[in-house]
Formats: sequence, structure tokens, C-alpha cells
Amino acid sequence: MQQIKLHELFATRRRILNFTAKSTTMNLHEYQGKEILASFGVNVQRGIVADTADKAVAAAKSLTESTGTSWHVIKAQIHAGGRGKGGGVKLAKSTDEVRSIANDIIGMQLITPQTPPEGKLVHQVLIAEDVYYPGASETSEIYMSVLLNRATGKNMIMYSTEGGMDIETVAEETPHLIFTEEIDPGLGLQPFQARKVAFNLGLSGTAFKEMTKFVAALYKAYVGSDASLFEINPVLKTSDYKILAVDAKVTLDDNALYRHKDYAALRDLKEENPVEIEANEAGLNYVDLDGNVGCMVNGAGLAMATMDLIKQSGGDPANFLDVGGTADAARVETAFRLILKDPKVKAILVNIFGGIVRCDRVAQGIVDAYKNMGDAIKVPIIVRLQGTNAEQAKELIDASGLNVLSATAFEEAAQKVQSVL
Ligand code: GDP
Ligand code: MN
Repeated sequence: MQQIKLHELFATRRRILNFTAKSTTMNLHEYQGKEILASFGVNVQRGIVADTADKAVAAAKSLTESTGTSWHVIKAQIHAGGRGKGGGVKLAKSTDEVRSIANDIIGMQLITPQTPPEGKLVHQVLIAEDVYYPGASETSEIYMSVLLNRATGKNMIMYSTEGGMDIETVAEETPHLIFTEEIDPGLGLQPFQARKVAFNLGLSGTAFKEMTKFVAALYKAYVGSDASLFEINPVLKTSDYKILAVDAKVTLDDNALYRHKDYAALRDLKEENPVEIEANEAGLNYVDLDGNVGCMVNGAGLAMATMDLIKQSGGDPANFLDVGGTADAARVETAFRLILKDPKVKAILVNIFGGIVRCDRVAQGIVDAYKNMGDAIKVPIIVRLQGTNAEQAKELIDASGLNVLSATAFEEAAQKVQSVL
């Protein structure tokens, strides 16, 4: 059996834990996040969203009328950061440039450090006023985020003078340049705390005052929108000492959406993994991973152990799928179909603990689902059932004559996965 690489195990677990967190949150596009911020009085870089080059030009003209600025930035709207690096944020100095840049960006497959390797298709661009006035050297980019510190149960403002950069890099290379301010949710943000933020950012005069207002409005927006994360990178200090949100990554808490009926409509299903959406609709907990062994389990704890088992067998988990308490034929079939949509899957490991649900029932469900799917299943299936009636379950599977290998011990299941890879 091959040596397990601990860091790989951790990486897989982190993705699942992230998923568990993700399943209760909703990501927004930059333009939507900015609209929410603005509705709470946060100063934002003004912009208009467009899905064609013609609309982009019209947006630019209308912005010029209200802002007086004839330069614009064209920004790809996808649920991923690092767009600037990938060529998804460009400055246009004329209407012609707005048209040609919008044409290039809309419909492009944008690859950034935060997208999947194949990138993400851009459906819309935000046409925004240029707030980095031409030739001005007095602008500065600040990093600011608001989030819940789970360790203390308090909200936290994290901020740095090193805006515009990847915050992970700042944290690694110059951690002393990141400040945090904890806010007691009961007391709310105190005026001295907003002043401390402005002071630590090295601001003075008008910019200092503007920053205290910005921080207060930002915190009010965070609480008022039931967000779980705000990340504004950069916050810009303009050459005339205004403080503006130039970017906005806003993640809302799903559980609070009933309080914000209008926010629910902001969900963009095009940005979410289609298989994950389908699974969600079927009431299954599914997350796509990069490996070659599909897995089906009941319970999140067993899922963790199953990931380890797959690693031990020399494979890599292709997904995480929790069928939950009722592993009947219909659910098992739906689960198989979802797993098999991933062409990377070379084998499926089913690892079920039969407690309330008896193993022989689950085994019958697997056999029925398999038969019902005809020749749709082209990969070997390894089934490990443990718990009530595990022996009968194994006999049932062995007698089925299907390409299903049964196992009762963990080690045995791992060896069988290894034997088919
Ligand atoms: P991200 O790359 O996905 O984080 O997208 P951002 O919205 O943060 O934009 C990336 C970069 O584009 C910023 O860090 C700025 O340097 C630049 N940028 C954004 N807005 C403007 C603007 O109005 N004018 C100019 N010249 N550059 C801008
Ligand atoms: Mn950014």
C-alpha cells in the first residue's frame, strides 16, 4: 500500500470543509456586490453592467454624462478574483476602445489564478468610471475585508496598505502589514475603531475623515445584508482624497436570504457547477473534485474516512457525495448517474454504514439501480457495507452477477479499489 501524503489529504479535506461552508453561502458578481454596498451608503466606483458591446458603449456614454470622465474600465463579471491578471480588466480611453475591449472580453474564456484551469466563460462586463485619474500618482490601493472570526465569535475588519495584491501573498511575505479590528456584534462598530483603521492606514486630513465614514458604512452594510464575507480589494484613495470601493467580493449567508427576498434573485446559476446544482435539486450533497475514483457515502464523517481510504489505494477522490439517510434504489441510481457524468471516473467506491438503514436494503438498492441503468455503468463498483445485516448484503451483491465487488473491511475495500485502477 502506498505511503499517504499528508498534505494531499489535508488539501482534499479543506475542499470538502470549504464546500460544507459554501453550501450555505451565495457568491455575487462584483456589480451586484457594489449595488448592495451603495444601498448602505458605501462609496463605490460607479458602473453599469452590459452583455453586448453596443450596450457597453451606451453604458460608457451615460456614465460620462453623470461622472464627467471619458475614460472607463471594462471588467469581466465572473465569480472569481484575479481578473486583472488574466486580462479581464482593461482601461478604455475612447468609445471605440470600449467597443473593441467589450467585444474581446464578452464571450472570452477567462483564466485567472482563481478559476478552474479551463477558465470561466464571461457573459457580462461592468463598464466603470476610471477612478485612477490619468497621470495621478497620489492614488493608493488599500485592502479591506469584513468577516466573522469563528474563534472569537466576533466580526472582524481586516485591512492593509498593500491593496491590489493577492492578500495571501501579503500574509506570507509581509504579515506585519495586515491589521485586524474585532467588533463585538452586540456593541457594533465604535467610532474610535473606525478612526484606528484610518490611522493605521497612514491617512490624514480629508482622506482620514472619508475613511472613517467608509468603514462605518461598510460595517453597516455587512451586518445589514447578512453577509458572510466582504472583500474589497482595492479600496482606493483617489487623488482628490475620496475613498471608494473599486472591487467587491460579496458572499451572502444563504440562511438569511428569507429576510432579503430581493437578494435571492441575484444568484447566478451559470456560475455554479451544473452537476452540483442537479445534485442539490435531488437533495444530495455533492462536490466535484479532481480525482479518478467516484465515491458515494452516507454521513460526512464517513466521507472523510473514505477519502483517506481512496488515497491509500493509490487513487484520488473524484467527488464527494453524501446520499444521506435513505440509500434506496432511486437515490442510489441518481447518485450513480451524477458520479458518472465525470469522465475522469475510473471506479466507484460505495461506502455505507448501515445503522437505521439496513445493509441488505442498501445492497438491494444498489443491485436494482445497477440493473435499471443497463449499460450506463462502464466502470467497476466496489461496495463496502458495514453494520446491520452486512453479511446478507455481501451475499446479495456477490450473487448478483454484476461488475460489483463487495468488501466488509476497510483494508479490503482499499485493496479492491487499487486492483481496478
Ligand atoms: P480583480 O483583478 O479580479 O481583483 O479585479 P479588480 O476589480 O480588483 O481590478 C483589478 C485591477 O484593475 C485593480 O487592482 C486596478 O489596478 C485596476 N483598475 C480597477 N479599476 C480601475 C480604474 O478605474 N482605472 C484604472 N486605471 N485601473 C483600474
Ligand atoms: Mn480585486
